[in-house]
Amino acid sequence: MTTFDVINPATEELVGAVELATLEQTDAAIARAQAALPAWKAVAPGDRARLLRRFAAAIDADLENLAQIEVANSGHTIGNARWEAGNARDVVEYYAGAPERLFGRQIPVAGGVDVTFAEPLGVIGVIVPWNFPMPIAAWGFAPALAAGNTVVVKPAELTPLTALRLAELARDAGIPDDVFQVLPGKGSVVGQRFVTHPAVRKVVFTGSTVVGKQIMAGCAEQVKRVTLELGGKSANIVFADADIERAAATAPYGVFDNAGQDCCARSRILVQRSVYDRFMELLEPAVQGVKVGDPSSADSEMGPLISSAHRDKVASYVPEGAPVAFRGSAPDGAGFWFPPTVLIPLSEKDRSVVEEIFGPVVVVLPFDDEADALRIANDTEYGLSGSIWTRDVGRALRVARGVEAGNLSVNSHSSVRYWTPFGGYKQSGLGRELGPDAVAAFTETKNVFIATEE
Ligand code: NAD
Repeated sequence: MTTFDVINPATEELVGAVELATLEQTDAAIARAQAALPAWKAVAPGDRARLLRRFAAAIDADLENLAQIEVANSGHTIGNARWEAGNARDVVEYYAGAPERLFGRQIPVAGGVDVTFAEPLGVIGVIVPWNFPMPIAAWGFAPALAAGNTVVVKPAELTPLTALRLAELARDAGIPDDVFQVLPGKGSVVGQRFVTHPAVRKVVFTGSTVVGKQIMAGCAEQVKRVTLELGGKSANIVFADADIERAAATAPYGVFDNAGQDCCARSRILVQRSVYDRFMELLEPAVQGVKVGDPSSADSEMGPLISSAHRDKVASYVPEGAPVAFRGSAPDGAGFWFPPTVLIPLSEKDRSVVEEIFGPVVVVLPFDDEADALRIANDTEYGLSGSIWTRDVGRALRVARGVEAGNLSVNSHSSVRYWTPFGGYKQSGLGRELGPDAVAAFTETKNVFIATEE
């Protein structure tokens, strides 16, 4: 049995040690999940709904504790951490409405009756990254449980604590132990076993594009279902006819939230050339005004990066002589801090423009007209989200339709609402989470014909 030391990224102090599941323990957990399936599937829809509502209520009652755990484990600001715990609660509550609404269809046929059933898939493996441990786990497990599947969750090595607490809360709420299990462990051991174990019928993966491709290839061996939520390099497009003051004031929060460790980060700001200078004048004080500091303090707007290794990776995008326009501030001393940084790259092919940095670094690029904005916005292998700032409603819709990404916002940077679909185009992912249709991704459609002729 090996353990993993969980470190507070704001202080570098040890928070605790967590046991990592072995291959044998993973197999045993999957076997228990498989054994629990028939009974869970047979729970009456209203009872399954009630158990999920109780689970949501248990999360709600523990919200402050969950948020504090996330601050210590992940360095998220307390405001964000409360939102994240609330999001996990809301997602469970929302999908608690699903068991009684898992409708099939009755299709007219000759000589009998034809009906469809939405059957659970079986055991679902959910692999979670470290950037949003609670919400991303819940986006997978809540609709999966609602549809009558059993679930094993593997949190990221760096951030297992809130997932472990969610498992306790589920048990307290009356969800049977083997129906919902959390298995901290290595991706190469536990996560990989979800891919290769034949009893796991679907893998829900959120993480890097490189690992996502391996998961998809591995799942192909068993024609295993897969949902992928991967990286992003999203554009924040500011047209000359926009409210430039608001666009500049909000742009830092569209990319530096969660210290930029957000797959939806608007990490490329595209500004129409005629307002470029004015926008940059306004952006500078906005960036310098981002409050970076102790994440447990209520007025902090940005905390540290998750680890020392990740800070090194982010820093590699800002080498000596990098085209820095301006930077915000960050604390000195212990903690994996990195200041908000604005780059003005000389080339659209620069590494900082092309690659996902996943830290508080944003590039600003000028564009000429609508066509040019779309050309630059779509010149990426990713397609997760994006923002469009304009007062022209026709342009807003044209550009929103033209950007090859799954989640666009106009005059706003919001991407995630639990009741609207979320997911990526191109190499940002496969499938959609959240919203009214997510439960369908955890069911098989079964068609049954019943002869009525004698
Ligand atoms: P990662 O891909 O290294 O790890 C993600 C998870 O996969 C972890 O739990 C890890 O243990 C596991 N894993 C690693 N190797 C594995 C393997 N071979 N088999 C099975 N599981 C394995 O990514 P990360 O560093 O934890 O997260 C950051 C990345 O996630 C970023 O690139 C970011 O864009 C992406 N992300 C995307 C979304 C989205 O919704 N699209 C959301 C959050 C994060």
